[in-house]
Amino acid sequence: MNRHTATLLDGDACADQLFLELGKRAAALVARGSTPKLVTLLVGDDPASSAYIGRKHETCARLGMASEDIRLPADVTQNELLEIIAIQNADPMVDGVLVQLPLPDGIDAGVVGRAIDPAKDVDGLHPVNMGKLLIGTPDLLPCTPSGILHLLRAYDVPLAGRRVAIIGRGMLVGRPLAMLLSMRGIDAQITLLHRRCGMHAAVLRTADAIISAAGQPDLITAAMVQPGATVVGVGISYDNDGQMVSDIATDAAQVAGAITPRHGSVGAMTRAKLMENLVTIASRRADATWRKAR
Ligand code: NAD
Repeated sequence: MNRHTATLLDGDACADQLFLELGKRAAALVARGSTPKLVTLLVGDDPASSAYIGRKHETCARLGMASEDIRLPADVTQNELLEIIAIQNADPMVDGVLVQLPLPDGIDAGVVGRAIDPAKDVDGLHPVNMGKLLIGTPDLLPCTPSGILHLLRAYDVPLAGRRVAIIGRGMLVGRPLAMLLSMRGIDAQITLLHRRCGMHAAVLRTADAIISAAGQPDLITAAMVQPGATVVGVGISYDNDGQMVSDIATDAAQVAGAITPRHGSVGAMTRAKLMENLVTIASRRADATWRKAR
């Protein structure tokens, strides 16, 4: 029997490569007296959020960078949170400020996100940084879209003029990813699908690449994929046993030309891009310090 084997888009290996480079850049900054520093703020004790935050701090430590994990009770007020962000914004030794989402009811995530200094926005989600992406002059990029682009490039997946179907128009992934992949120089032909327009079989079956960021279990099946297409699973959901489920059904690998594994991959790339933004911000601080000292 002739079994089809799709190329595995191994984001974990790709992220490790990026971590190696970032570790070197971080070491050079430490030597210049500008150790990159990330500050995270977590409100409440959601175990998933706590695990995500923990990984970010572990990665900082592994790359020789400083980090501070600020934990706040679930009943912290929005004003108290804004005051803490203002302190981090004003601290010249802090490069990146990140507020872990979701936030409890009663705290407006939009107001909190906009309170972060755009120059310290390691997540790349501040309206100033999203706006720069929209007008084609990107600066600090949103981490998941940037990680997906890096992964596709690492495996030489062609994008220019190719049909890319993105499922989900969320602000974290789908929408900024559509902006990024359609930028001049990347030049993909994007179709952005979402819940209100449903899954267009005709769009999916003719797509050269499908990127699913919907958070719906096994949404993309083999029947929807053009043979040889690239398939990237971003969305995460949980089954009744609390097990993580991908947007991509296992049978999709039987027809895809290249595909991400069901777990990890995009998550590792997201973390790597967060660290890349942190190193970029810290490099700017080091350069500014050097210019002042001259
Ligand atoms: P979101 O909830 O803001 O957006 C989800 C989008 O999917 C919406 O636009 C919705 O219309 C669309 N959608 C949902 N069901 C659909 C369906 N059946 N058909 C078509 N469209 C459908 O989500 P987000 O914050 O943008 O994140 C997207 C997903 O990616 C989530 O599952 C999130 O957990 C995951 N995520 C993963 C990583 C990672 O590192 N792997 C990082 C960020 C987000």
